[in-house]
Amino acid sequence: MNENFKYVFGPVPSRRLGRSLGVDLVPFKTCTYDCIYCQLGRTTRKTVERKEWVPTAAVLEELKRKLASHPDYITFSGSGEPTLHSGLGEIIEQVRAMTKIPVAVLTNGSLLWQPEVRAELALADVVMPSLDAGDDLLFQAVNRPHPDITFEKLVAGLEQFRGEFSGQYWLEVLLLAGHTGLPAHVQEIAEIVRRIRPDRVQLNTAVRPPAEEHVRAVPPEGLAALAKAFGPEAEVIANYCILKATPQSHPSAEAVLALLKRRPCRVQDIAQGLGIKPAEVVKHLAGLEANGCICRQRRGAEVFYRAAGRQADESQLERCSC
Ligand code: SF4
Repeated sequence: MNENFKYVFGPVPSRRLGRSLGVDLVPFKTCTYDCIYCQLGRTTRKTVERKEWVPTAAVLEELKRKLASHPDYITFSGSGEPTLHSGLGEIIEQVRAMTKIPVAVLTNGSLLWQPEVRAELALADVVMPSLDAGDDLLFQAVNRPHPDITFEKLVAGLEQFRGEFSGQYWLEVLLLAGHTGLPAHVQEIAEIVRRIRPDRVQLNTAVRPPAEEHVRAVPPEGLAALAKAFGPEAEVIANYCILKATPQSHPSAEAVLALLKRRPCRVQDIAQGLGIKPAEVVKHLAGLEANGCICRQRRGAEVFYRAAGRQADESQLERCSC
Protein backbone atom coordinates (compact mmCIF):
# COMPACT_ATOMS: atom_id res chain seq x y z
CA MET A 1 0.00 0.00 0.00
CA ASN A 2 1.27 3.45 -0.87
CA GLU A 3 1.92 5.20 2.44
CA ASN A 4 2.49 8.64 0.97
CA PHE A 5 0.00 11.25 2.08
CA LYS A 6 0.24 14.89 1.03
CA TYR A 7 -3.14 16.21 2.06
CA VAL A 8 -4.41 13.93 4.82
CA PHE A 9 -2.57 13.69 8.13
CA GLY A 10 -2.90 12.17 11.58
CA PRO A 11 -5.14 11.26 13.28
CA VAL A 12 -3.90 14.13 15.43
CA PRO A 13 -4.76 14.83 19.06
CA SER A 14 -7.40 17.53 19.07
CA ARG A 15 -8.45 19.40 22.18
CA ARG A 16 -12.05 19.44 21.00
CA LEU A 17 -12.49 16.52 18.62
CA GLY A 18 -10.58 13.58 20.12
CA ARG A 19 -8.61 11.73 17.42
CA SER A 20 -9.06 13.90 14.42
CA LEU A 21 -8.08 12.94 10.87
CA GLY A 22 -6.80 16.17 9.35
CA VAL A 23 -7.41 17.23 5.76
CA ASP A 24 -5.26 20.02 4.40
CA LEU A 25 -6.87 21.89 1.50
CA VAL A 26 -4.30 24.65 0.94
CA PRO A 27 -0.51 24.76 0.50
CA PHE A 28 1.58 25.95 3.44
CA LYS A 29 0.85 28.72 4.49
CA THR A 30 -2.11 30.09 2.62
CA CYS A 31 -4.53 32.11 4.70
CA THR A 32 -6.77 35.16 4.75
CA TYR A 33 -5.11 36.16 8.05
CA ASP A 34 -1.59 36.38 9.45
CA CYS A 35 -2.34 35.96 13.15
CA ILE A 36 0.40 36.98 15.55
CA TYR A 37 -0.25 33.82 17.61
CA CYS A 38 -0.34 31.39 14.66
CA GLN A 39 1.36 28.10 15.51
CA LEU A 40 2.30 27.66 11.84
CA GLY A 41 4.42 30.81 11.75
CA ARG A 42 3.87 33.81 9.50
CA THR A 43 1.55 33.65 6.50
CA THR A 44 3.51 33.44 3.25
CA ARG A 45 0.49 33.73 0.93
CA LYS A 46 -2.19 36.08 2.25
CA THR A 47 -5.15 35.87 -0.10
CA VAL A 48 -8.94 35.82 -0.43
CA GLU A 49 -8.85 33.97 -3.76
CA ARG A 50 -10.97 30.83 -3.72
CA LYS A 51 -9.73 28.14 -6.07
CA GLU A 52 -8.75 24.48 -6.20
CA TRP A 53 -5.53 25.05 -4.28
CA VAL A 54 -4.87 21.29 -4.11
CA PRO A 55 -6.39 18.59 -6.39
CA THR A 56 -9.80 17.49 -5.12
CA ALA A 57 -9.47 13.97 -6.56
CA ALA A 58 -6.14 13.40 -4.77
CA VAL A 59 -7.58 14.58 -1.44
CA LEU A 60 -10.50 12.14 -1.75
CA GLU A 61 -8.24 9.28 -2.76
CA GLU A 62 -6.03 9.81 0.30
CA LEU A 63 -9.05 10.09 2.58
CA LYS A 64 -10.40 6.75 1.38
CA ARG A 65 -7.08 5.09 2.29
CA LYS A 66 -6.96 6.70 5.74
CA LEU A 67 -10.47 5.87 6.91
CA ALA A 68 -9.16 2.59 8.34
CA SER A 69 -7.49 4.64 11.11
CA HIS A 70 -11.00 5.06 12.63
CA PRO A 71 -10.81 8.72 13.66
CA ASP A 72 -13.47 10.39 15.80
CA TYR A 73 -13.76 13.23 13.27
CA ILE A 74 -12.61 14.14 9.80
CA THR A 75 -11.41 17.70 10.22
CA PHE A 76 -10.62 20.26 7.57
CA SER A 77 -7.73 22.31 8.92
CA GLY A 78 -3.97 22.31 8.42
CA SER A 79 -1.68 24.69 6.56
CA GLY A 80 -4.03 27.66 6.37
CA GLU A 81 -7.68 28.57 5.79
CA PRO A 82 -9.71 25.64 4.36
CA THR A 83 -12.60 27.76 3.03
CA LEU A 84 -10.18 29.14 0.43
CA HIS A 85 -10.53 25.83 -1.44
CA SER A 86 -13.33 26.24 -3.98
CA GLY A 87 -14.13 22.51 -3.84
CA LEU A 88 -14.77 22.41 -0.08
CA GLY A 89 -18.51 21.73 -0.47
CA GLU A 90 -17.97 19.00 -3.05
CA ILE A 91 -15.33 17.33 -0.90
CA ILE A 92 -17.60 17.31 2.17
CA GLU A 93 -20.40 15.78 0.10
CA GLN A 94 -18.07 13.05 -1.18
CA VAL A 95 -16.83 12.32 2.36
CA ARG A 96 -20.44 11.94 3.49
CA ALA A 97 -20.99 9.36 0.76
CA MET A 98 -17.90 7.46 1.94
CA THR A 99 -18.38 7.29 5.70
CA LYS A 100 -20.58 8.17 8.67
CA ILE A 101 -17.63 9.71 10.56
CA PRO A 102 -18.66 13.30 11.37
CA VAL A 103 -17.06 16.17 9.48
CA ALA A 104 -15.71 19.27 11.22
CA VAL A 105 -14.28 22.42 9.69
CA LEU A 106 -11.82 24.61 11.59
CA THR A 107 -12.06 28.02 9.98
CA ASN A 108 -11.19 31.57 10.89
CA GLY A 109 -14.68 32.53 9.64
CA SER A 110 -13.34 35.41 7.56
CA LEU A 111 -15.16 34.38 4.36
CA LEU A 112 -18.57 33.66 5.92
CA TRP A 113 -19.91 36.90 4.45
CA GLN A 114 -19.85 35.08 1.08
CA PRO A 115 -23.12 33.13 0.49
CA GLU A 116 -21.35 30.27 -1.36
CA VAL A 117 -18.93 29.75 1.55
CA ARG A 118 -21.84 29.62 4.01
CA ALA A 119 -23.66 27.09 1.79
CA GLU A 120 -20.59 24.84 1.57
CA LEU A 121 -19.83 25.02 5.30
CA ALA A 122 -23.45 24.21 6.12
CA LEU A 123 -22.78 20.67 4.79
CA ALA A 124 -20.49 19.94 7.78
CA ASP A 125 -21.54 18.55 11.17
CA VAL A 126 -19.44 20.94 13.20
CA VAL A 127 -18.17 24.37 12.17
CA MET A 128 -15.60 26.00 14.43
CA PRO A 129 -14.86 29.60 13.54
CA SER A 130 -12.88 32.06 15.60
CA LEU A 131 -13.31 35.58 16.91
CA ASP A 132 -10.27 37.03 18.65
CA ALA A 133 -11.10 40.74 18.90
CA GLY A 134 -13.98 43.02 19.82
CA ASP A 135 -13.14 45.92 17.51
CA ASP A 136 -11.37 46.67 14.27
CA LEU A 137 -8.22 48.01 15.92
CA LEU A 138 -7.51 44.78 17.77
CA PHE A 139 -8.70 42.69 14.83
CA GLN A 140 -6.04 44.35 12.66
CA ALA A 141 -3.39 44.00 15.37
CA VAL A 142 -4.03 40.33 16.23
CA ASN A 143 -5.33 38.73 13.03
CA ARG A 144 -3.60 40.99 10.45
CA PRO A 145 -6.30 40.21 7.83
CA HIS A 146 -6.21 40.57 4.04
CA PRO A 147 -7.32 44.13 3.17
CA ASP A 148 -10.59 42.85 1.64
CA ILE A 149 -11.73 41.55 5.03
CA THR A 150 -13.12 44.10 7.43
CA PHE A 151 -14.19 43.52 11.02
CA GLU A 152 -17.79 44.41 10.10
CA LYS A 153 -17.82 41.80 7.31
CA LEU A 154 -16.38 39.16 9.65
CA VAL A 155 -18.98 39.71 12.37
CA ALA A 156 -21.88 39.97 9.88
CA GLY A 157 -20.83 36.64 8.32
CA LEU A 158 -20.58 34.93 11.70
CA GLU A 159 -24.06 36.16 12.65
CA GLN A 160 -25.64 35.28 9.31
CA PHE A 161 -24.24 31.74 9.31
CA ARG A 162 -25.91 31.02 12.67
CA GLY A 163 -29.28 31.71 11.06
CA GLU A 164 -28.59 29.25 8.23
CA PHE A 165 -26.71 26.41 9.94
CA SER A 166 -28.47 23.73 11.96
CA GLY A 167 -25.31 21.81 12.92
CA GLN A 168 -22.97 22.42 15.83
CA TYR A 169 -21.48 25.91 15.83
CA TRP A 170 -18.53 26.24 18.21
CA LEU A 171 -16.90 29.64 18.42
CA GLU A 172 -13.30 29.83 19.58
CA VAL A 173 -12.09 33.00 21.26
CA LEU A 174 -8.31 33.11 21.64
CA LEU A 175 -7.15 35.69 24.16
CA LEU A 176 -3.63 37.07 24.56
CA ALA A 177 -2.09 38.36 27.80
CA GLY A 178 -1.80 42.15 28.02
CA HIS A 179 -3.65 42.47 24.73
CA THR A 180 -7.08 41.05 23.90
CA GLY A 181 -7.05 39.33 27.29
CA LEU A 182 -7.70 42.59 29.18
CA PRO A 183 -11.13 42.59 30.91
CA ALA A 184 -12.47 45.65 29.00
CA HIS A 185 -11.65 44.05 25.63
CA VAL A 186 -13.10 40.73 26.72
CA GLN A 187 -16.41 42.48 27.54
CA GLU A 188 -16.51 43.85 23.97
CA ILE A 189 -15.89 40.42 22.48
CA ALA A 190 -18.53 38.87 24.76
CA GLU A 191 -21.10 41.41 23.58
CA ILE A 192 -20.54 40.37 19.95
CA VAL A 193 -20.58 36.67 20.86
CA ARG A 194 -24.08 37.11 22.34
CA ARG A 195 -25.24 38.37 18.92
CA ILE A 196 -23.61 35.45 17.09
CA ARG A 197 -25.32 32.86 19.36
CA PRO A 198 -22.95 29.90 18.90
CA ASP A 199 -23.75 26.53 20.50
CA ARG A 200 -20.48 26.68 22.41
CA VAL A 201 -17.96 29.36 23.30
CA GLN A 202 -14.48 27.94 23.74
CA LEU A 203 -11.74 30.07 25.25
CA ASN A 204 -8.18 29.47 24.30
CA THR A 205 -4.81 31.16 24.53
CA ALA A 206 -1.43 30.90 22.82
CA VAL A 207 -0.18 27.63 24.31
CA ARG A 208 1.90 26.62 21.29
CA PRO A 209 4.92 28.51 19.91
CA PRO A 210 3.50 31.63 18.18
CA ALA A 211 4.42 33.44 14.96
CA GLU A 212 5.59 36.49 16.90
CA GLU A 213 7.93 36.20 19.86
CA HIS A 214 6.21 38.88 21.97
CA VAL A 215 2.90 36.98 22.14
CA ARG A 216 2.05 35.77 25.64
CA ALA A 217 -0.52 33.28 26.85
CA VAL A 218 -3.15 34.15 29.47
CA PRO A 219 -2.45 31.97 32.55
CA PRO A 220 -5.05 29.27 33.32
CA GLU A 221 -6.56 31.06 36.32
CA GLY A 222 -6.83 34.29 34.30
CA LEU A 223 -8.61 32.53 31.45
CA ALA A 224 -11.06 30.92 33.89
CA ALA A 225 -11.89 34.35 35.35
CA LEU A 226 -12.33 35.92 31.90
CA ALA A 227 -14.61 33.06 30.84
CA LYS A 228 -17.31 34.40 33.19
CA ALA A 229 -17.93 37.29 30.76
CA PHE A 230 -19.25 34.75 28.24
CA GLY A 231 -21.79 33.15 30.55
CA PRO A 232 -21.97 29.74 32.19
CA GLU A 233 -21.86 27.82 28.91
CA ALA A 234 -18.37 29.11 28.02
CA GLU A 235 -15.59 26.60 28.47
CA VAL A 236 -11.84 26.93 28.73
CA ILE A 237 -10.13 24.50 26.39
CA ALA A 238 -7.30 22.62 28.03
CA ASN A 239 -4.07 22.34 26.04
CA TYR A 240 -4.73 18.71 25.34
CA CYS A 241 -7.56 16.29 25.91
CA ILE A 242 -7.75 12.75 27.16
CA LEU A 243 -7.83 10.62 24.09
CA LYS A 244 -8.84 7.08 23.36
CA ALA A 245 -5.77 6.01 21.46
CA THR A 246 -6.30 3.28 18.89
CA PRO A 247 -2.95 1.66 18.30
CA GLN A 248 -1.70 1.71 14.74
CA SER A 249 0.12 -1.36 13.49
CA HIS A 250 3.32 0.24 12.16
CA PRO A 251 3.38 3.99 12.68
CA SER A 252 6.15 5.45 10.57
CA ALA A 253 8.53 8.40 10.82
CA GLU A 254 6.59 9.85 7.86
CA ALA A 255 3.40 9.85 9.95
CA VAL A 256 5.19 11.74 12.73
CA LEU A 257 6.66 14.22 10.23
CA ALA A 258 3.28 14.72 8.51
CA LEU A 259 1.80 15.67 11.87
CA LEU A 260 4.64 18.06 12.70
CA LYS A 261 4.29 19.76 9.31
CA ARG A 262 0.83 20.94 10.41
CA ARG A 263 1.41 21.82 14.04
CA PRO A 264 4.13 21.84 16.67
CA CYS A 265 3.62 18.95 19.10
CA ARG A 266 5.03 17.60 22.32
CA VAL A 267 6.00 13.94 22.64
CA GLN A 268 2.73 13.14 24.42
CA ASP A 269 0.65 14.89 21.71
CA ILE A 270 2.23 12.71 19.03
CA ALA A 271 1.84 9.54 21.11
CA GLN A 272 -1.85 10.26 21.76
CA GLY A 273 -2.61 11.32 18.22
CA LEU A 274 -0.97 8.37 16.53
CA GLY A 275 -1.82 5.87 19.24
CA ILE A 276 1.78 4.80 19.86
CA LYS A 277 4.03 4.60 22.91
CA PRO A 278 6.04 7.73 23.89
CA ALA A 279 9.24 5.68 23.65
CA GLU A 280 8.45 4.92 20.02
CA VAL A 281 7.77 8.60 19.35
CA VAL A 282 11.14 9.53 20.88
CA LYS A 283 12.85 7.02 18.59
CA HIS A 284 11.23 8.53 15.48
CA LEU A 285 11.97 12.07 16.66
CA ALA A 286 15.64 11.23 17.14
CA GLY A 287 15.87 9.96 13.55
CA LEU A 288 14.01 12.94 12.12
CA GLU A 289 16.12 15.37 14.13
CA ALA A 290 19.37 13.71 13.05
CA ASN A 291 18.32 14.11 9.42
CA GLY A 292 17.46 17.79 9.94
CA CYS A 293 13.75 17.25 9.22
CA ILE A 294 12.53 18.66 12.54
CA CYS A 295 13.66 21.07 15.22
CA ARG A 296 12.84 21.76 18.85
CA GLN A 297 11.24 24.86 20.28
CA ARG A 298 10.73 25.75 23.93
CA ARG A 299 7.47 27.27 25.17
CA GLY A 300 7.75 27.84 28.92
CA ALA A 301 8.63 24.50 30.45
CA GLU A 302 7.36 22.54 27.44
CA VAL A 303 9.42 21.28 24.49
CA PHE A 304 7.62 21.28 21.13
CA TYR A 305 8.84 19.66 17.93
CA ARG A 306 8.08 21.18 14.54
CA ALA A 307 9.04 20.48 10.94
CA ALA A 308 12.29 22.27 10.13
CA GLY A 309 12.33 25.08 7.61
CA ARG A 310 8.55 25.60 7.39
CA GLN A 311 8.86 29.32 7.63
CA ALA A 312 11.98 29.58 5.54
CA ASP A 313 11.61 27.13 2.70
CA GLU A 314 9.03 24.38 2.47
CA SER A 315 10.82 22.75 -0.44
CA GLN A 316 13.44 21.59 2.10
CA LEU A 317 10.83 19.22 3.45
CA GLU A 318 10.13 17.77 0.07
CA ARG A 319 13.82 16.89 -0.11
CA CYS A 320 13.90 15.42 3.37
CA SER A 321 14.93 11.79 3.23
CA CYS A 322 12.95 10.61 6.28
S1 SF4 B 1 -4.09 30.99 13.24
FE1 SF4 B 1 -5.38 30.18 11.62
S2 SF4 B 1 -6.35 31.98 10.79
FE2 SF4 B 1 -4.62 32.70 11.92
S3 SF4 B 1 -2.96 32.86 10.42
FE3 SF4 B 1 -2.82 30.83 11.40
S4 SF4 B 1 -3.94 29.49 10.01
FE4 SF4 B 1 -4.55 31.59 9.51
